[in-house]
Amino acid sequence: MLKIVSGDITKISVDAIVNAANTSLLGGGGVDGAIHRAAGPELLAECRMLHGCKTGQAKITKGYRLPAKYVIHTPGPVWNGGSRGEEELLKSCYESCLKLAAERGCRTVAFPSISTGIYRFPLEKASAVAVRTILSFCQSHPEIEEVQMVCFDERTKGFYDSALQKENILHIEF
Ligand code: ADP
Repeated sequence: MLKIVSGDITKISVDAIVNAANTSLLGGGGVDGAIHRAAGPELLAECRMLHGCKTGQAKITKGYRLPAKYVIHTPGPVWNGGSRGEEELLKSCYESCLKLAAERGCRTVAFPSISTGIYRFPLEKASAVAVRTILSFCQSHPEIEEVQMVCFDERTKGFYDSALQKENILHIEF
């Protein structure tokens, strides 16, 4: 099941939250900074041992002081006009995170809106890719019981709500 919610991802009690990281995995602004502040310095210490992560891939750590058991770090693509494989890379972020979550036995996962902040990915496109990818992964992996998209502002939530509505309509028609 996919739920679109408003809130702060650092406060969500799920098996794994996803961090919209950068390729260094050494912290940054936006949701990345908030997750590191809330998890405490042990998170950065574990991240240092991972030696970075490529765009579209994912790596997992413990959640330390967060209510979530794990953090899955994924560097999203920077939007460069759309002709540099940005949509495929964003899809790969969601898939890589869900795959890691399933391998670790996670049943509940929460995502932020990857790439739509500092990385400037247009929300309409990003929300369609996110919703479609999550729904299709969960169909073939029933062990993932619930995925939450945690929107930090109402504008973002509006886009994810309509992306989910569109997917639901498509599924009824086919
Ligand atoms: P990126 O570099 O991938 O664009 P950002 O962190 O700049 O990542 O933004 C991604 C999204 O995360 C934006 O919608 C931003 O508003 C949101 N965000 C920022 N802080 C939080 C938080 N604490 N919980 C959930 N989402 C957050």
